[in-house]
Parts: sequence; structure tokens; C-alpha cells
Amino acid sequence: MTERDVMPFDVVVVGGGCAGLATAIHLANLIEAHNGKAADENKVTAEICLIEKAAEIGAHSISGAVMDPKGLDALLPGWRTMEPKAPIEAEVHDDYAIWLTAKGGTKFPITPPPLKNHGNFVISLNKMVKWLGAIAEQKGIQVFPGFPGAKLVREGNTVTGVQLGDSGVDKHGQPKGNFQAGGILSGKLVVLAEGSRGSMTKQLIADLKLEGKNPQVYGVGVKEVWEVPKGNCPPGLVVHTMGYPLDSKTFGGGWVYGMGQSEGDKNLVSIGLVVGLDYRDPTMDAHRQLQRMKLNPKIAPFLKGGKMLHYGAKSLPEGGLYSMPKVFGDGFMLVGDSAGLMNSMRLKGIHLAMRSGMLAAETAFACLQKGDFSAASTALYDQKMKADWVHEELWACRNFHQGFHKGRLAGLINAGFATLFGGKGTLWSDGLKSNAGHTYMQKVGDYFGGKTPDGGKPKHDKLPEDGTLTFDKLTSVYSSGTMHEEDQPCHLVVTQPDLCSTRCVEEFGNPCQHFCPAAVYEMEDKPGTKHGVDLKINASNCVHCKTCDIMDPYQVINWVTPEGGGGPNYTNL
Ligand code: SF4
Repeated sequence: MTERDVMPFDVVVVGGGCAGLATAIHLANLIEAHNGKAADENKVTAEICLIEKAAEIGAHSISGAVMDPKGLDALLPGWRTMEPKAPIEAEVHDDYAIWLTAKGGTKFPITPPPLKNHGNFVISLNKMVKWLGAIAEQKGIQVFPGFPGAKLVREGNTVTGVQLGDSGVDKHGQPKGNFQAGGILSGKLVVLAEGSRGSMTKQLIADLKLEGKNPQVYGVGVKEVWEVPKGNCPPGLVVHTMGYPLDSKTFGGGWVYGMGQSEGDKNLVSIGLVVGLDYRDPTMDAHRQLQRMKLNPKIAPFLKGGKMLHYGAKSLPEGGLYSMPKVFGDGFMLVGDSAGLMNSMRLKGIHLAMRSGMLAAETAFACLQKGDFSAASTALYDQKMKADWVHEELWACRNFHQGFHKGRLAGLINAGFATLFGGKGTLWSDGLKSNAGHTYMQKVGDYFGGKTPDGGKPKHDKLPEDGTLTFDKLTSVYSSGTMHEEDQPCHLVVTQPDLCSTRCVEEFGNPCQHFCPAAVYEMEDKPGTKHGVDLKINASNCVHCKTCDIMDPYQVINWVTPEGGGGPNYTNL
């Protein structure tokens, strides 16, 4: 058995995104404020650490991203005048929405209220997270980038720590010369801020049956950042799109946001598309759909004369209030995307992630004072959430995503009611039942009207990948800065590999080769197999979006953390 060092902490935060960092910063602030006034015998001391799988804080953080400042106002009320300055790209000065069609589109006469963004800020999430990381370190939090959590340590239902991933293991699972066993960070309280579909959070939700009324439903967002001539898309312009390139049965929409100045007469532009991971088309490919969207005459002018600099992808929890899992238990709390906190009607989650981190910190502080970290104490987090604007905001749009399962028109009418009546007028007041997203995917024979595409290869329309406006996946992955140690165990664990070359070819046409936005999954020729093809996994391309773990129709892909520091290296995303 591998010997592992044990390092004791009071609070262990897993994940250095905005939810995890808000937890750590607010807890440090609460302790400092309390100890400034408390008698010596009442002072609270706590060792707090935060681990992050990326090589640097912020390197795996990606979002659209237009930030509602509500969360940051609560966390750091003086942020607008702080030094070093908060990394704001631009304040929103104009917003509108376009209904896209295959040949063009029409601007909405008014901007739908959920998409109004005056008072909000265009940011780069990875820059914002980096800035928060520096604040956390100044406050004495022990921040450990490059350390992935491999599994939770539990005694029965009580979480007692986190086992870090091993490093220096070869692709056959054998230790190399530089082998280091991952240590154990023991914690009285573990705050899971792993982001969307975190591997340890997924396991905990399954083991302790924490799932909410509905299973979580996700979307995948694919995004590019461009440098364009000034005037194409000025900083602070926010444009949302609906319709093309998605059909009426597929949930999703796109955006174009004007970011800050770059060099000379150029500025940066964020462009992206979210596709609901409850689609029917087994050949759906979000990366490809984004390329199609850029060819639309209403969108292409934003990018004319520009250059694509960065690419990335992430999944997002879109199920809303009734898809939230139970967020607390013995020795643990879930925050941010791990808790399913996202307002998909507004396409926003940063403010909710920060606020949930603060509420978890207040609960952690109360637990430290009492010396009790059981579910009886961590339940305070849930009570605080239900009394907070977090719950109020999510309640108002509680059926938003599920409404679209009744079709685009019903979904839009429902969203209209929710907007007009603040949630009191929703068509389905109790919360619509929905199923896990992968169950909506149809088999190729059903989706294509009885015709199975040849060898699982879809009959896509011709799409020029000209390397100027549109790109193939490998070019895009190159722009994400993704790197992994090649000689390590594959972090995409296919638990029933035989399915790939047999049933999956026949039934779904190997949808992994389409839904992965980073060309990780490839069906290569393999004589001797039933259909002459088998799965090849290019794991080093993985941008950690978790789409495969979510959308695989047989649920046999298990995403686990790779060796620390591997993954994308996001900049400006
Ligand atoms: Fe995303 Fe999975 Fe592809 Fe990695 S392998 S980029 S997690 S879909």
C-alpha cells in the first residue's frame, strides 16, 4: 500500500475558481474581523488551504463572461478602487439581441430583460480569478496550484479530507523515477468548488444520494477570443444571439462581447456559443456549430480583418433550482458550479458562485466557533442560501431550461412569463421534471430517419475551415494552450471499451468524436473488430470541459483528474 503524507488543515477548499477563492477570502476576512474585537480566549484560528489542478490559478477558468457585480460588491465592497486594479475589460454600454437565420438575422426591437446588461462588466474570468488568487495569498491562505484532488477521504458519510493525485506514474500505471505519492489534506471541513461536473463532487453526489428533484442538466460553451480592428465591436458592446445555427429542438444561444483594448487600434472580442447537453442529434458538435455561426452575415463583420487568439470550452450547470443537489453534509459543502448555481436565463453564474462561497465561509466560521462540522452545523449554509438573493434569483427562473423540453416556443413563452412576473407567472410552478441530458440523444437510425450514417460518420454540410474565420478542432485546441504529460495513465477512463467498436458504432455512431470540442476521441481503422474501427483517445488534447463525462449515451466515460498542472492554459478567456 502506498504511504501518503498527511497534512492537517481546518478548512480545505478544492478548486481555485471564483467560488473557491470567495470562500477562502471571506473566511479569512471573517476571522480577522472577529479576532480584532474578541478577547484572547474567544479568538478563532484556522489553517485554510486551497488546491487547484491548473499549473497557475486562473489557467483553467473560462466564462463568457459578463459579470453582474453583485457578487464582487458583496465580497470586496471596495473593489472599484483597489490596487492592483480589478481586471475589468469594459463596462457594458450597449446591448441587443439578434434572431439568427441561416442567411442573416433580425435584431430584436427591444432587448429581452434577462439579456439587459447595463451596469454589468465584460471581464476575462481567468484574469479575474488570478487577481482573486493574489488577494487570497495576501490573506494567508495556503494556495497550492498544480495539485489535483484525486478522491475524497471519508469515514462513512463524513468527509474528512482530500487525497491528492499521484505524479510520476507512467501510462501503464507504473511509478517512474520521479514518482510522488499524492498526500492527504485532512480537513474538518472540505468545500468542493471543483466547477461544473467535478469528479469528486460527482462521486459524492452519487454515493450519498445528494441529487435534487431533477438530475443536473448541462450545456457546453465553446468560446474564441479575437483581436479585431477597433470599431468592429467596441469594448462594452454585448450582443446575444438565438436561433441559427441550432435547430428549434436544441437549447442554446450565442454571444459577441466587446472586450478591452489590445494594441494600437485593435480591441479584443469574445465570441461563443452554448449548446444544451440534452440535444437529440447524435452528431451534434458545438465546436462546428460555432464555426457555422461565425459565417453568418450578421456575425462575420464583428471579426472581419481580425485574428483568433484563444479558444476554450467548458460545461455549465443549466438545470436551475430544482437540479441543485443537497449542498451540505457531514464535513462538506458544495459551492458555485459544483452546487449547480447558474442562472441560465441570464447566462450568468459568476456572481452566484462568489456569493455561495461567501455563504459557505460564514457557515464555516460558525462551525469553527462551535467546533462542530457535522451536517447539523453545515445545514446553516442551506438556510443562508434560501434566505439570500441567490435563492430568490434562481427561484424566479426555476423552470427556464426545462421549459425548452416542450419546444422552443413553449420555452420562450415560459421565459417571458418568468420575466414579467418574477417567477410567480411560470407555466409550471412546481418545477418541471426532466431527465439526465444524455437520455435525450437519439440513435442515428431514429434521428436520420432510418439511415445510419456510414460507419458512424455523419453527413455534415460542407463547412470551409479556411484557417482565417473558421478552424478545425486541432487548430482550436492549439489556441487553448493545452498541454499534458504524455506518459501518464489516461484520465478519460472508458469503463466498457468493448461498446465503442460494437453497439456504439451501430446505435449512436460514436458521438464522442462529435461532442468533444477538442478532438480527443477518434475512431481509427482497426482490422479485426466488428466494424473495422476502434476508439483512439488523444487525452493530451483535453481542455477539461467534462462534456464526454456528461453526454456519453452509455455513461461509460469517467473523467478523472490528470497529473497536476496538465490541461489548458487560458488567457483572456
Ligand atoms: Fe471535454 Fe471530454 Fe473532450 Fe476533455 S475529452 S475536452 S473533457 S469532451
